Amino acid sequence: MGQFEDNLAKADQLLQRFRDAPAGHFIGGAWTTGQSGETFENLTPVDNSVLGKVARGNARDVDDACQAAWSAFPAWRDMAPAARKKILHHFADLIERDAEEIALLESMDTGQPIRFMSKAAIRGAANFRFFADRCPEARDGQALPMQEHINYTIRQAIGPVGVITPWNTPFMLSTWKIAPALAAGCTVVHKPAEWSPLTAVKLAELAEKAGIPAGVWNMVQGLGEEAGKALTEHPHIKALAFVGESSTGSMIMAQGAPTLKRVHFELGGKNPVIVFDDADLERALDAVVFMIYSLNGQRCTSSSRLLVQKSIEQEFVARVADRVANIRVGHPLDPGTEVGPLVHKRHFEKVMSYMDIAKEDGADIRAGGAAVADLAPGNYVQPTLFAEARNDMRIAQEEIFGPVLTAIPFADEAEALKLANDVIYGLSGYIWTADVGRAHRMAQNVDAGMIWVNSENNRHLPAPFGGTKASGIGRDGGDYSFEFYMETKNICIAL
Ligand code: NAD
Repeated sequence: MGQFEDNLAKADQLLQRFRDAPAGHFIGGAWTTGQSGETFENLTPVDNSVLGKVARGNARDVDDACQAAWSAFPAWRDMAPAARKKILHHFADLIERDAEEIALLESMDTGQPIRFMSKAAIRGAANFRFFADRCPEARDGQALPMQEHINYTIRQAIGPVGVITPWNTPFMLSTWKIAPALAAGCTVVHKPAEWSPLTAVKLAELAEKAGIPAGVWNMVQGLGEEAGKALTEHPHIKALAFVGESSTGSMIMAQGAPTLKRVHFELGGKNPVIVFDDADLERALDAVVFMIYSLNGQRCTSSSRLLVQKSIEQEFVARVADRVANIRVGHPLDPGTEVGPLVHKRHFEKVMSYMDIAKEDGADIRAGGAAVADLAPGNYVQPTLFAEARNDMRIAQEEIFGPVLTAIPFADEAEALKLANDVIYGLSGYIWTADVGRAHRMAQNVDAGMIWVNSENNRHLPAPFGGTKASGIGRDGGDYSFEFYMETKNICIAL
C-alpha cells in the first residue's frame, strides 16, 4: 500500500468515532454534548460529505465552562511554576506521540495538505515546550530603587481567558494561544471554529491525559454568533484572545465592551511581497510561490500581493505563472499534494467570486482562474495568478484567503512603498532587494507588524507576532504573550 492509501485507511479509522457520536464539549474535566441537545453537521472539503455531527454549544454551555474555569483558576494560578512546567511538557510529549493522528484529522477537516499539517502538529508541541520552559519566569517583574522608596513590579495571571480560533491550521493556532495562557497561570475556555471542530477534541483529550486539572482547559463547540458571542460577554472571562476576520474582531470588541474585556486580535491581511530588480530573483521566485500557494493560501501571513518592479515585471510574472501552472492540486492526504480543497463550500464560492471580479476589474488571469472540474464535488480551486493589476482593484484590496496571487507593477521605491501601504491591513511584508539601505528604509516604512527581508515567513518563537491597522491589536510570542495574559502590579515600599 502506498503512503496515500495508507493515510486514507488510517484517517477513515480515526474518523469513525465522529460518525458514531457528535464531537462534544469538554467542560470542568468532563465530556458532554451540552444542554441544547442540538448539533450541526461537519463536512469534509474533500467532497463535502458529512464527517459527523458537532454539539452546538449555547450560552448555558459557555456559562458552565466559564464557571469551571473560574473555580479552577486560583489553584492553577498558585501551582508551583515548576509543576506547571512539567505538566505542559508532558502535554507536548503527547502531541508528539499523536502527531500523525492530529495531522490526518486536521487534513480531512480543513483540506490542508498533509505535508504541511504534519509540521503544524509538531509546531503545536513546540509552542507548548517554549512556554512551558518560561513558566518559572512568567511572574518576574523589575525593581526601580529610589533614595526613599523602592518600586517593584510583579506579574499575575489575569484570570480565566476566552480563546476563539479560526479554521485555517486550527490545531497549531489553538496551541499558540492556549500554551502561553496556561503557562501564565490562566485557565481557558476555547471556542474552536465551527468549520474545523475535530482537532479541538483531540487537544482537550490530551489535556486530560497530560494531567491538566479539571476546569483548567475547557472547550465549547458551536457557532460564533451563539457560543462565541456568549464567551465574549461572560463576566468571568477577563481577556479574549481572538484569531479571525477583521470584521469579527470588531464585533467581538463591541461584545466585550460592557464587561471591559482585554482583547488581543490577530486578524486579516493583504500582505505585500515587494520584488526589486536587484533582488536574488531565483530565491524571490521560490518565496513568492511558497508564501501564497502553500497552506491553500489560507494563511494570515501569506503574501497575496506581488509588487514587482516594472523593469523585471514581464519576465518575473511569466516565471511565476509557469510555476503556478505546475502546482499539484489534489487530495489533502496525498503526500504529493501541494494545494488541497478549500475549507468549506461557502469559502470556495467566495474565492471563486474573485475570478469574475478580476475580469470585471480588468486584470489579466495569467494562470488558473477556475475550479478544478475533475475533483468536484470537492472545494478545489486552481492556483491562480492575476497580473497587470492595479492596487485600487478589489483583487488587490480585499483578503481573498485562497491560492490566488495579484501581481501589480511599480516604477521605483517611492511607488512600491505607496502601494504597499495603500490597504486597510498591515500584518506582514516581504522585501526582496540586494540594496541594504533600501531594505532598511522599506522595512521601517511598510505598515506591518512583521517584515521579512530576503526571506519567506520564518518564525522564531520569542519574536513578536501580530499586526497593525485592521490586521490586529497586540503581539504574541515570548514575553509579549505574558504581557497579555498577565496583570502587572506595582508595589512601592518606603525605605
Ligand atoms: P472568523 O472571524 O469568521 O471566525 C473566527 C472565529 O470567530 C470562529 O471560531 C467563529 O466561530 C468565531 N466568531 C464568529 N463570530 C463571532 C462572534 N460574533 N463572537 C464571537 N466569536 C465569533 O474567521 P475565519 O473565517 O474562521 O478565519 C479566517 C480569518 O482569520 C482570515 O481573515 C485570516 O486572515 C484570519 N487569521 C489571522 C491570523 C493572524 O495571525 N493575524 C491567523 C490566522 C487567521
